[in-house]
Amino acid sequence: MTDTNILHDVDALLRQLFPICRSITGNGVRQSLDILRATAPFDVVEVPSGTPSFDWTVPDEWNVRDAYVADSHGRRLIDFQQNNLHLVSYSEPYEGTLTFDELHPRLYTLPDLPDAIPYRTSYYNRTWGFCLSQNQFDALDRNELYTVKVDTTLAPGSLTYGETFLPGKSGREFLITTYCCHPSLANDNLSGMVLLTLLLRELQARDLWHSYRFLIIPETIGALTWLAQNEEAARRVSGAYVITTVAGPGAIGFKRSFAGDHLIDRITRLTFAEAGLSVTEYPFDANGSDERQFSSPGFRIACNTICKDKYYEYPYYHTSLDNLDFAKADALVETLKLYFQAIDNLEFNRTYRSFNPKGEPMLGKRGLYPQLGGAIRQSAAGAAYGNELDAIRWLMFYSDGQTPLLDIAEKTGFPLRQLHEVAQKLVAGGLLELVG
Ligand code: ZN
Repeated sequence: MTDTNILHDVDALLRQLFPICRSITGNGVRQSLDILRATAPFDVVEVPSGTPSFDWTVPDEWNVRDAYVADSHGRRLIDFQQNNLHLVSYSEPYEGTLTFDELHPRLYTLPDLPDAIPYRTSYYNRTWGFCLSQNQFDALDRNELYTVKVDTTLAPGSLTYGETFLPGKSGREFLITTYCCHPSLANDNLSGMVLLTLLLRELQARDLWHSYRFLIIPETIGALTWLAQNEEAARRVSGAYVITTVAGPGAIGFKRSFAGDHLIDRITRLTFAEAGLSVTEYPFDANGSDERQFSSPGFRIACNTICKDKYYEYPYYHTSLDNLDFAKADALVETLKLYFQAIDNLEFNRTYRSFNPKGEPMLGKRGLYPQLGGAIRQSAAGAAYGNELDAIRWLMFYSDGQTPLLDIAEKTGFPLRQLHEVAQKLVAGGLLELVG
């Protein structure tokens, strides 16, 4: 895939998926997953309403046919068909005629961002409501009688999520997840759904060293439900990326794991260092996305998030201004390349043992002594390859069967990709064996 093709695919997916009304359950999730599966196949799992998920229960399924507030002339003043953020997610069915004063407590605005429609949900408290811009609200006639229609269904059905498993050889497994429960909001988190799908497509085409499980789940209840149904699989996970908010115009950021120095944190930091990026590093916080579930005491999976305009941090977060003018395909591809590089670094992080631990090996007789005057090469992340003879010496020095290439990269400054490539040569030359 060329950059142009990837950019085209990202842009097409963003535009196709943005208008769909998604929530933690319902047909919008199914439709979105079907669109993504056409790019990178995965399974769709349905878990019935009422299924226990630890301390929670899979809720009734929510679907919307229509919803509006109209004036006495029948003009729709607040219209779900115009923007699905207008309806509070999980609004129960309602039909009636209300005065402004009766309607007012059901309306949500953002006075500080008067053009923006806020995003509000009420998953577990049965009610209904509408969101509108402060400007729209100010224009409402205080003496009007309003017709309200919330034509929704809230009934037993199922929670829908996407999952696939890509087997590798190392015996170690990593989890890559994102959430699919937000309606027309672009950075949070349509961008994460699209990025995960393109990452999946890339890894599906590769011969993998580690195994990877991909999940596209409704946030919180989807993570809880998957964990409750897959406790054994969850225990096999060595680390995770929780992908969210990856396509804003602002800075690249990184939320570290609860451990702070777990393998996954070190891989992420090395990836940034190799790319020459200095990024905002956010400490672990018990607030956030699905690391709240995956890192809980019963699982303690270390999770990282690489983002571009992190949730909570940008003014348009959870508003209608988080749209496709804000989150863009080129920004998403920039973040996607960092995820590609992080996965590459995970894949390269293997451990070798020297067959020649006593003293230095004689490279020349094995044809391993590097030719002089090679051109300067760059790794994919931009880090310059170092002198190959030095790389060989460090690899032979550290390869005691217990020191992974990540440690050697951190200690020596050689790009992990170069250490991987040189280690392959030393294996072929009979000097190293792969032990894990
Ligand atoms: Zn959100």
